[in-house]
Amino acid sequence: MKKREEVRTLPEDGLERLIGLVRSRGYCLVGPTLRDGAIVYDEISAVSDLPAGWTDEQEAGRYRVKAREDAAAFGYNLGPHSWKRFLYPPRTQLWQTTPTGEATLQPVGAAARAVQELDFIGGSTTPDRPFAFLGVRACELSAVAIQDRVLMGGAFPDPHYQSRRESALFIAVNCSQAAATCFCVSMGTGPEVTGGFDIVLTELLEDGSPAYLARAGSAAGESLLAQLEHGPASPAELDRSRVQLDQTAGSMRRELAADEVRGLLAANLEHPRWDDVASRCLACTNCTMVCPTCFCSTVEDHTSLDGTATRTRSWDSCFSLDFSYVHGGSVRASTRARYRQWLTHKLSTWHDQFDSSGCVGCGRCIAWCPVGIDLTEEVRAIASEPGDRQETTS
Ligand code: SF4
Ligand code: SF4
Repeated sequence: MKKREEVRTLPEDGLERLIGLVRSRGYCLVGPTLRDGAIVYDEISAVSDLPAGWTDEQEAGRYRVKAREDAAAFGYNLGPHSWKRFLYPPRTQLWQTTPTGEATLQPVGAAARAVQELDFIGGSTTPDRPFAFLGVRACELSAVAIQDRVLMGGAFPDPHYQSRRESALFIAVNCSQAAATCFCVSMGTGPEVTGGFDIVLTELLEDGSPAYLARAGSAAGESLLAQLEHGPASPAELDRSRVQLDQTAGSMRRELAADEVRGLLAANLEHPRWDDVASRCLACTNCTMVCPTCFCSTVEDHTSLDGTATRTRSWDSCFSLDFSYVHGGSVRASTRARYRQWLTHKLSTWHDQFDSSGCVGCGRCIAWCPVGIDLTEEVRAIASEPGDRQETTS
């Protein structure tokens, strides 16, 4: 077996030492923390920053954290944040002019981080370092791969995304449980981490305390693990790891017929369910903000009385009325048209554009929709009574 594929058992203080090692190599380490009643991603410096002993409960329109009976550090599913927040920030300054009228283009790479608006990192901004992400789930790695295709795969890669992405280190964790909103199994994106990581951890509980198996997926990951004393995982540990993953996959209650939905939605653009969902949807944009693959943005210019002007790129949403505004009005004036645009793009035309689905089955849009709209349920409703009219209206 090649060294990188070897599953090892980390020593008791292995996770703490791994965190210290990553930081000593100059990374800004971001991982899960408990804040404001949610598990969110923020800069961390020690195991004590992780949400040990906490989990989450999720349902359509519902998210709650609650205490666990053990000390698992990764015993939750997903919060409202995704890694998009760091690789493709909510706001990016593109350029600024001086009072004399000279424009300063936003530098990329380390220098960009120094001037970027990064106050979401808990106020303790360390913007001049590459990111290392701890606790990345299988579906989230699939979402990053999708954003890679969107933002770096064409003739004009986004330099801001590319500089963050290419220097980032991913320490993934296999899921040990599924939320009621998860459906990664049917999307083929989880719960086992199979690629796109530098290190993957499996958290096993021994009498309520966590122990970790680790495997490297890159030279960077291998060089980090090489600095920790460890032994090969025992057959019993490997068995427990496999059972844990199988139980997680088997407990998933939601699903989406990923292979059929592409054609189904394309053939049902006038289905009455679009009116039904529009009567419930608030067009609040929450689903697109929490979605790890949504990438729509808008660009705004701001002028100041001191003579400077800045151009900023911000996340936008196909649910906002202005997003499709062209001279004379919005192309998608109704909520019906905007919901249909989101769902058909995500699950159908995304395949034509980027050769994959735009959904990884993370379930965030279900939990964080204030009225509990569930895309798996919307697809099921259309599939249960498919129509065949295809003319489009707004
Ligand atoms: S559409 Fe919903 S379930 Fe799919 S990736 Fe986006 S947030 Fe996750
Ligand atoms: S589906 Fe839900 S989260 Fe998305 S815009 Fe409508 S109300 Fe908001």
